[in-house]
Amino acid sequence: MKRTEKPKTPLRLTGLSSLRSRYLAAMIVLTALLAGCALLLQHYITTVRGERATSIETRQQASQHSRLLREALLDVERALTSYYWAPSTERRRTVFQAVDRAQQRQQQLFASPWLHGSRHSAELAALGTEMQGLHSRLDRLMEAHRPGAPNPPGTAFDTLWQQLQKMDQTLESSATAEVSYLLRASNNVIGSVWLLALGTLAMMLIGFFLFQRYVLGPISLVARALRDEAHGKRDLVLPLPATTETQHLVEAFTEMRRQVADRQQALEHQAMHDALTGLPNRVLLQDRVQQAIHHLRRLGHGGLALLIMDLDGFKEINDTLGHPIGDGLLQQLADRLQREVRDSDTVARLGGDEFAVLLEHVDQAEAQHMAGRILHLLDNPFEVAGQSLYVSGSIGMALYPQHAHTPQELSRRADVAMYVAKREKNGVALYDPAQDHYTLQRLAQASDLRSAIGNDHLFLHFQPQIDLHTGRFSGVEALLRWQHPQLGYISPDDFIPVAEQTGLIRHLTYWVLDQSLAHVAAWRHRGLPLGSIAVNLSAYNLQDADLSLEVARLLKKWGVQPWRLALEITESSMMANPARALATLEKLNDIGVQIAIDDFGTGFSSLSYLKQLPVDKLKIDKSFVMQMNEDDNDAMIVRSTIDLAHNLGLEVVAEGVESEEALALLRILDCDAAQGYHISRPLSAAALEDWLESSEYCKGYEEAPEQDAPEPDLPTTH
Ligand code: C2E
Ligand code: CA
Ligand code: CA
Repeated sequence: MKRTEKPKTPLRLTGLSSLRSRYLAAMIVLTALLAGCALLLQHYITTVRGERATSIETRQQASQHSRLLREALLDVERALTSYYWAPSTERRRTVFQAVDRAQQRQQQLFASPWLHGSRHSAELAALGTEMQGLHSRLDRLMEAHRPGAPNPPGTAFDTLWQQLQKMDQTLESSATAEVSYLLRASNNVIGSVWLLALGTLAMMLIGFFLFQRYVLGPISLVARALRDEAHGKRDLVLPLPATTETQHLVEAFTEMRRQVADRQQALEHQAMHDALTGLPNRVLLQDRVQQAIHHLRRLGHGGLALLIMDLDGFKEINDTLGHPIGDGLLQQLADRLQREVRDSDTVARLGGDEFAVLLEHVDQAEAQHMAGRILHLLDNPFEVAGQSLYVSGSIGMALYPQHAHTPQELSRRADVAMYVAKREKNGVALYDPAQDHYTLQRLAQASDLRSAIGNDHLFLHFQPQIDLHTGRFSGVEALLRWQHPQLGYISPDDFIPVAEQTGLIRHLTYWVLDQSLAHVAAWRHRGLPLGSIAVNLSAYNLQDADLSLEVARLLKKWGVQPWRLALEITESSMMANPARALATLEKLNDIGVQIAIDDFGTGFSSLSYLKQLPVDKLKIDKSFVMQMNEDDNDAMIVRSTIDLAHNLGLEVVAEGVESEEALALLRILDCDAAQGYHISRPLSAAALEDWLESSEYCKGYEEAPEQDAPEPDLPTTH
């Protein structure tokens, strides 16, 4: 998949690379700018206001003084006029008093700050001189005056009036200048405010542009990439990050994209492969078979073979040595298989200890040759955790196009062949249509078995045991039988696993216990030798918390003393959940029933382990006993097992006693009890009754006295 590369020149993450810092910097600059402008404006307005306020005030003062001067001059003029009309010393003095007042006014006017630094100082000086000379001029005028002669006083004041008028004009023009100045100032302020507003607008536009460029743009690109990703498109080029935030966003997205892709790949791989061995799983195998068939169809010739291999003895390794060891073995086998086949062939794990090999472009002979080589892979032991482990295997083989035309059909047929190979213990089996009913029946067994309980198709056989010290009958083992109406006799080795897989085993075991104890009750009723009765338990029964309650209930129901019942368990059945199994055993032990370890020697547990279990008996597996007289090794095993078991205080039973020689050897080895075809084959209940009445082993048999047992309903015998 195409991935977006990391940017070649990584962004320097200092200074203003981050949006936040840029934003902060821009805000600081903008605020400073606005505050500066506002301050300047404020300063300008304050200055203008301050300046103009004093200017207006002083001008008002000046014009007031000018008005007062004018009034004073009018007074002078009026006093002079009245003197002209009727000159008198009195009036002359009045004139001078008025002149003095006018001069005071003039001085007040001249003291006005507005006139200081005035541009009209020359005119003012002239006015001052005129006013200074007014006193003497009027004096002269009044001296020279002849009563009745016309001498209009106005002429004496003409220059003064003119000068005052000029000053008024100056005041007026100054006021006009003031107004226009203020107008200009207000225009300046309005202009500045507009400028500020425009500046802010421009900044906002620039801000928006930058925001769009550095934030919104990259975000929408990433969003689009996400959307495209969701629709399976992955080649969108992500933006080169311009800021820290967008870089982080792009990095986070790129990382997420990588992780999603990795996870998707892992999921796809997981869906198609076996987690333990990494081999293709059933789904991928089917797919490969399908493709191979398509390919062959296009070619128009050639064939392929599907091999299915199932291990024998693997379950025991798993149960006794633990799953990690079993897993190690499977992994090694997967390696061996892969190294054995060609690159174009497919090795798959179908689950558990089942493997498949798809061979392309092979004929029957080549396929059979390959199957043989694969079986040879199991010849060498697997070294796991310091242990050498051996397993054997059975291979079923089906061919395209001879046996099947679809992948499903092909694998079903290979499966059928595999079961045949397993049953007939011949290693490799080629699919044979005549045997196809076998697996179908196997599947049908589960439901048939359910209905078989309670009708005559399921029943018990009993195999006698003898006490080797006395040479007399000591008890029987109950063995389950299934006479299928269509399929005939089915071995417990075949249907017990079905019962275990379907959970039927619990009900089945209860049924066997019930029937076994019922028969004991019947034999006692008929005065036959009784001894003990052994019943086989499956691993699943040891996980059943109710088992001891049921056993106690049935013992009571049939009035059988607990010591008469021996429950047989295998070593491996303890391993599934040892704590729980031990708890069950202890409860059974408390009831007083005997516990026997069955098939001893085939598992992996040690005698010291057994010491911790509440066990009474040990049954040496028939595989050692049967060849004991020919095989020194087997004899050694039997001998040491007997010795060690005795040391632990356990009773030893040998099963699979097929000859007098074996019986003799077991006596020499101090074995306690024996069971086998040489003594008797397993017998139906009716046959056993005959055997008990007639057998040499039962002559002079002395039954331990029964304690007051009730007389229950007795079952019919088969
Ligand atoms: P097992 O418990 O080891 O039972 C002994 C098996 O060895 C029986 O096979 C018996 O017929 C066979 N056998 C006895 N003497 C000889 C002999 O001298 N030579 C040879 N070659 N074989 C001998 P069977 O009846 O086919 O039972 C097979 C297995 O099925 C039993 O092995 C036991 O594991 C299981 N099984 C039988 N009945 C029950 C049952 O009621 N419940 C459970 N859970 N398992 C049962
Ligand atoms: Ca048994
Ligand atoms: Ca056995």
